[in-house]
Amino acid sequence: MIHDEKSGETAAVDTPCATTYQAELQKRNWKLSHIFNTHHHWDHTGGNNDLKSIYGELTILGPKVEENKIPSINVSLAQGDEITLGQNSIQILDVGGHTTGHIAYYFPNQNKVFCGDALFALGCGKMFEGTPQQFWTSLQRLRDLPDETTVYCAHEYTMGNAKFAKSVEPNNLELMERVQEIESLRKQNLPTVPSNLGLEKRTNPFLRVDVSQKFVRMLISKMEMMTRLLLERYEVQRIILEDEDFTIRYF
Ligand SMILES: [Zn+2]
Repeated sequence: MIHDEKSGETAAVDTPCATTYQAELQKRNWKLSHIFNTHHHWDHTGGNNDLKSIYGELTILGPKVEENKIPSINVSLAQGDEITLGQNSIQILDVGGHTTGHIAYYFPNQNKVFCGDALFALGCGKMFEGTPQQFWTSLQRLRDLPDETTVYCAHEYTMGNAKFAKSVEPNNLELMERVQEIESLRKQNLPTVPSNLGLEKRTNPFLRVDVSQKFVRMLISKMEMMTRLLLERYEVQRIILEDEDFTIRYF
């Protein structure tokens, strides 16, 4: 939930069910005024109608492309739209791919993005409806946000994602360190969400599709250069390159 102290406006970001929100709102003495839906899936919109019947007239926002699938929606949004919650301005980003119309809510002044199932810690959502090109454009759009952005994704899938990330970039030291931290947090039953976008850019394979290819190419060209040097200067006869840990043996 997002709460603006001055105006008292309070938004639920997606609504898997009404009861958890109701309990939390009561505990904090907040009154729900908005629902920010990121996409139409039931585990993100299933509580819309119940919350509306409890709290009366709510401003329920969601992607225009999916307006027919989102219960009680009354404000439809698309890329470039700007909305407010109290004094806070919020930019709408089209991050379609997981679903066709998926949007993210970006708070530029607070450096926060609520991205639903478009981007996860060390992963991204399954491509149920969009195309690879669309999804990649969306991920690049999220990657273009500043490093200091805090990423609020919708699921705690980080441990599973970490296994895949390690298989893609086994030599990314920062990724290995991050996975250790994640394992330690999950052992204590602590969340790994929200995460930091700078860290995602350096460790999430889905934000590194082009970067890691560039890195591998750079590494290969460095190895070729070293190989040439060894052959020329030290009259080395034979060189074995082991790509597992990038060691070079020569005879
Ligand atoms: Zn979803």
